[in-house]
Amino acid sequence: MGLQGKEREAFEKKLEPYVGIEIGIEEIGRDEINQSMIRHWCEALDNRLPIYRDPDAAAQSVHGEIVAPPTMLQAWILPGMAMATGDPDPNDKQKELHRLFDSVGYTGVVATNTEQEYVRYLKLGDRVRAVTEIESISEQKATGLGIGYFIDTRTTFRDDADEVVGWMTFRVLKFEPGEQPEAVADDSGGAPAKPVRIRPALGHDNQWWWDGVAAGHFLIQRCEDCGVLRHPPRPMCGECQSVRFDSIPSAGAGSVYSYVVIHYPEVPGYE
Ligand SMILES: [Zn+2]
Repeated sequence: MGLQGKEREAFEKKLEPYVGIEIGIEEIGRDEINQSMIRHWCEALDNRLPIYRDPDAAAQSVHGEIVAPPTMLQAWILPGMAMATGDPDPNDKQKELHRLFDSVGYTGVVATNTEQEYVRYLKLGDRVRAVTEIESISEQKATGLGIGYFIDTRTTFRDDADEVVGWMTFRVLKFEPGEQPEAVADDSGGAPAKPVRIRPALGHDNQWWWDGVAAGHFLIQRCEDCGVLRHPPRPMCGECQSVRFDSIPSAGAGSVYSYVVIHYPEVPGYE
């Protein structure tokens, strides 16, 4: 339903003071830019660029020294496990705003967008701190998750010389969660019905194959450039890397070359 009429007007009036303010907490990187964190990040993302880890290679680069991957920007100020377990800072206006939404039933929260821009590369020994501003709050919107409001924040990252090194915008939806569907009872006396199997996600790369199944055909994908057949359906030819394909119907006769029996893990609810 969402808030309506006078109630909604009164609530939106309370939101106004939050637009354009800083959230009241400066996030200060606990460590200077350092090789260990860079290495862990690169290993986690399988980034093997030598300018992040090899001093000799970095010296030969335009940077002249080791630099941090720009996409690590936010990692330097994240408070770690305190994010999950810490008590909310009473000065945090962003949390206060979220509690205001909670108080009128918009208890759901989901992150929807983020953008980042990097002004300069961070080097070993740099220090980063950040300030976040609540940039805007949308009108009430009806979304697939429920009725709610989008909140946009902008976090500006600065170095010790107070120069901007990058920024990040972040959008969350605070929404009123929809009614949860009740467990469906079957005819045998109140026990929940067996779950329905999840359908495959359909798209450009596989819908044609399932359409074939629905029409009673077993289609085999064929590369339009080199003619090699492949199955199951996938976007690119493993032989020539072409993404152009058509298909031919299988005659339905053949011999099984190999198969797999999956024992565990079973998916709960399915036999
Ligand atoms: Zn091919």
